[in-house]
Amino acid sequence: MPRTITVNLQTVTPIWTGDVDRTSDQVRETGLMGSVRWWTEVLIRGLGGYACDPTGDDRCAFDEEAFRRTGQAEDGLRDVCPACRLFGCTGWSSKLRLVVTDGQGGYEVNLNRAGVPFTMNFFELKPTLPQERWLLIKAVWLIVRYGSIGGKTPLKPPGQPDYGLVVPVSPLRLPRLTRDQVSTWLADLMAASPPLQRRQERAHPDWPDLRFFFFNDKTWLDLGKINEVMRSDSSGFLSGRRGVSKKVFSFQKGNRFWGYTRDEEMLDGVLGTLQRLGIRDTRTGEEVISEL
Ligand SMILES: [Zn+2]
Repeated sequence: MPRTITVNLQTVTPIWTGDVDRTSDQVRETGLMGSVRWWTEVLIRGLGGYACDPTGDDRCAFDEEAFRRTGQAEDGLRDVCPACRLFGCTGWSSKLRLVVTDGQGGYEVNLNRAGVPFTMNFFELKPTLPQERWLLIKAVWLIVRYGSIGGKTPLKPPGQPDYGLVVPVSPLRLPRLTRDQVSTWLADLMAASPPLQRRQERAHPDWPDLRFFFFNDKTWLDLGKINEVMRSDSSGFLSGRRGVSKKVFSFQKGNRFWGYTRDEEMLDGVLGTLQRLGIRDTRTGEEVISEL
């Protein structure tokens, strides 16, 4: 019987799921799945693996020809990154379908409010590997412990509602694997695919990688402090000046902020600024990886 991976959560703030009040379930689920996928990609890269940018030119595609020759899905997947293997790419549909239910299994759930219990049910459409389930659940762990879920977690003037904070209401259930075992699996996938290795070498340095993140679950940043942090990076990466989205997200209600830089040097600059502002207890991505 196909497995269902369930995660029981509760909103701390509304979750932005793409519409004001009445969002179709499909839009909402697609948005939440996109967010879980994003964190999974971040995690894969942080563990030294390769995850493509599914919206970019260098994204993965299932090799139909290789598949037709042998009839083995694995042959079509050889050069497909681990994120696309799980969540799908051109020619290969996702192994999971997300359905959100309320605490009792009902389908009427309004995530645009705080304090709403809900369950993310990931229905297996194709068999998943323990390593993939580990990555999925750890991505959810990153979201609840340090991050946020859904779109619209931008910079807002103080007083505006925060979006996307959730807490678990029951322990996250993980496959019995260590971080090292999953890292080894990711390395093995790379070793088996020279095209993936080449794509990793030319991966864009702006792609988010957990190693270069920063997290704080003790305090939030007001707009003035956010601007200070952004000023520590003259390249404009953090502020999104170069036409990309901003990289610092602060939550007054949750006493939390997180963000990401593109490399160690930029991360050091941010950490220095935070220290100068008297903000303690900021954790680096490397430190969070060691908690996984
Ligand atoms: Zn991919």
